[in-house]
Amino acid sequence: MSRVFNFSAGPAALPETVLAQAAAEMLDWRGTGMSVMEMSHRGSDFMGIHAEALADLRALLAVPSHYKILFLQGGGLGENAIVPLNLMRGQSGHQNEADIVITGVWSEKSYQEAQRYGQMNIAASAVDSGFTQVPAPESWKLHQDSAYLHLCTNETINGVEYHFTPNLEATHGKAFKDRPIVADMSSHILSRPVDVSQYGLIYGGAQKNIGPAGLTIAIVREDLLVNDAGESRAHPLCPSVFNYQVQAESDSMYNTPPTYGIYIAGLVFKWLKAQGGLAAMERQNRAKAALLYDYLDTSSFYENRVRKADRSLMNVPFFLKDESLNAVFLQGANERGLKQLKGHRVVGGMRASLYNAMPLEGVQALVAYLKEFERVH
Ligand SMILES: *Cc1c(COP(=O)(O)O)cnc(C)c1O
Repeated sequence: MSRVFNFSAGPAALPETVLAQAAAEMLDWRGTGMSVMEMSHRGSDFMGIHAEALADLRALLAVPSHYKILFLQGGGLGENAIVPLNLMRGQSGHQNEADIVITGVWSEKSYQEAQRYGQMNIAASAVDSGFTQVPAPESWKLHQDSAYLHLCTNETINGVEYHFTPNLEATHGKAFKDRPIVADMSSHILSRPVDVSQYGLIYGGAQKNIGPAGLTIAIVREDLLVNDAGESRAHPLCPSVFNYQVQAESDSMYNTPPTYGIYIAGLVFKWLKAQGGLAAMERQNRAKAALLYDYLDTSSFYENRVRKADRSLMNVPFFLKDESLNAVFLQGANERGLKQLKGHRVVGGMRASLYNAMPLEGVQALVAYLKEFERVH
């Protein structure tokens, strides 16, 4: 067996010990004589796996008790429609608009999709910078009647990350104190501690930093689920399986949840706890990212174009100054077991994703290759 260093942006590398445990338990989960994949989602074995995964995730992220954690399907792109269907009608039912900050490809997609359900106001956009920075919160134009503010706190394709938690009361005044912030954290959830209480909704697809594709995690403040009359606030046409209130009331079991994905995510949560939790992951992730960015910055052969304060710890797009060498670069990387470094077609160049499961040795091997390639060319 030989494992490579997989720099894919998603689906992405998983911890080897998790995969090994899943393999060992594949045919017979703890003497049940069946795979987790074959279990009834309402049986006590799977209910236990589900409850433990929920509890571990709540502990890892220190999710306050007035937030529900939902295990859903539909992915990050599904949430682009599911969020407005659930939250756009506002607390008193008469608003039908929301604000969004556009920092790259993913928030742009959220904007396009949500527009089909109501009015989306662009509070700020970094398009003029080529999506290389987060616009200063003081400059965000928030509408008085918007139901929420949507952010993508890590732009997977552009490599731009929020390294601060917005405080709308401080930047926009008292009237915005309770404005819920909706954050698409698909590609950096669990990479570091987050103050969940500052958000109304956090969501993410699992396949970047958590587990297999197919599981979507939503962490939602309970009071956002219902209107003043205590009824579900979702649009009447919102599919029931995507209605946060319906799923919250049935512990994410209104429909069959993505059982195997939840099981693997649960193993990843245990692995994260064994690593020392999210503060320890943040230290590792900072060290890995610094190694790569420092080299890119000192070299005149490569470059990263994102403003330093807004660089993603998870996704590092970079360019060879001589782009005619791209194919040779990728071929040499492949031969050394450094896989999936080709950049997204929208941005071009290269991209190295350094999620939790990427060991420091992988980044060291990448930097060694960058040096070697620079020397040779
Ligand atoms: C990958 C990604 C998505 C989309 O995920 P799908 O599972 O393909 O729907 C959305 N937002 C961000 C930030 C992502 O990285």
